Amino acid sequence: MAYELNHPDIRDAVARLCADFPGDYWRKLDREQAYPAEFVAALTQSGYLGALIPEEFGGSGLGISAAAAILEEVHRSGGNAAACHAQMYTMGTVLRHGSAEQKEKYLPSIASGALRLQAFGVTEPTSGTDTSALKTTARRDGDDFVINGQKIWTSRAAHSDLMLLLARTTPREQVAKRTDGLSVLLIDMRDADPAALTIRPIRAMINHATTEVFFDNLRTPAASLVGAEGKGFRYILSGMNAERILIAAECIGDAKWFIEKATRYARERVVFGRPIGQNQGVQFPIANAYARMRAAELMLREATRLYELGQNPGEEANLAKMLAAEASWAAAEACLQTHGGFGFAEEYDIERKFRETRLYQVAPISTNLILSFIAEHVLGMPRSY
Ligand SMILES: Cc1cc2nc3c(=O)[nH]c(=O)nc-3n(C[C@H](O)[C@H](O)[C@H](O)COP(=O)(O)OP(=O)(O)OC[C@H]3O[C@@H](n4cnc5c(N)ncnc54)[C@H](O)[C@@H]3O)c2cc1C
Repeated sequence: MAYELNHPDIRDAVARLCADFPGDYWRKLDREQAYPAEFVAALTQSGYLGALIPEEFGGSGLGISAAAAILEEVHRSGGNAAACHAQMYTMGTVLRHGSAEQKEKYLPSIASGALRLQAFGVTEPTSGTDTSALKTTARRDGDDFVINGQKIWTSRAAHSDLMLLLARTTPREQVAKRTDGLSVLLIDMRDADPAALTIRPIRAMINHATTEVFFDNLRTPAASLVGAEGKGFRYILSGMNAERILIAAECIGDAKWFIEKATRYARERVVFGRPIGQNQGVQFPIANAYARMRAAELMLREATRLYELGQNPGEEANLAKMLAAEASWAAAEACLQTHGGFGFAEEYDIERKFRETRLYQVAPISTNLILSFIAEHVLGMPRSY
């Protein structure tokens, strides 16, 4: 069976769309920490955000490689897909584990963009990466769950209708495994009592529409539960490979943007009577970043290939995400250094992309935790935490 992983037509079309959103569009938003509503609307109207939703629910029914191509091109154009990438993949938990009624009710509207499901509440201030230690609770009360607690870094919550929430439904001391007793709830924030749900934007180093969310006796119908009660942790894990692959694609797009920009400047900028790119000291960091990008891109291809074969490419998806994040950072460094002082000028977009691409070594999963995964699950060393 032949696999088309490159999707040149999709790439061309996304690049054309992105040409309408040049650097000054993103710069202005970055300055104001504002949401790229016009860009998100354009991606939505063109159907790209419904790429992974099966055709029977109104989406395009494309594979993960097509979604990766879309996100890579957004980043390669100098833009940033973080404002809406989660609209593509958060629904995967509903698709894989939701009831027939939930899929019928939500997926067609998510596919059309009429409904936004792009907030994903897992991280909490006190538990951090140790997800099973999270403290937000969902207690059953009649036909409702009552939610109490706090999430942090819940990106796009203020630009989403629905939130996928991981909360504890059985106290940790009453479960055999600490990852048991956690449940996934699909919360309709439009119905929420404003006194019970508070969303506060967090001003951050990058323009990411990220927030902290407070739940104070928020009631949500029992029908909000996705899948079986207490099995939420494994449902969240089952979506991780897709997220790792798509974030890796964004990193590859960033790396290509930095490398193209650095290369062009190195050819054109003349100092001491010759192009700076004639000096090996300028060439080598760019060539090195290119080599790292290409290696990461191959790992990403392998992860998408296995994913589309229906396998569980935990190793490849994690490696692709880590290598791509490192490659984009190496490319950012090389690009900034090549531009000298001009790299710091806002109008070149380098300082903005430099800040943006640094995120990927911390979120959605930090590099250390990927290394721990490889050490334990691939190399068979003892669990370290
Ligand atoms: C801009 C942004 C957007 C985000 N969006 C979302 C979102 O939409 N939804 C959501 O749920 N979360 C989101 N996050 C949270 C993100 O997933 C976490 O920040 C990330 O997983 C790291 O968790 P933490 O910040 O709590 O760090 P901590 O867990 O406190 O870790 C701090 C540092 O210690 C290291 N560390 C911790 N434990 C170990 C260990 N055992 N071994 C080695 N090193 C270790 C980590 O690698 C990290 O470098 C976002 C974060 C940011 C910054």
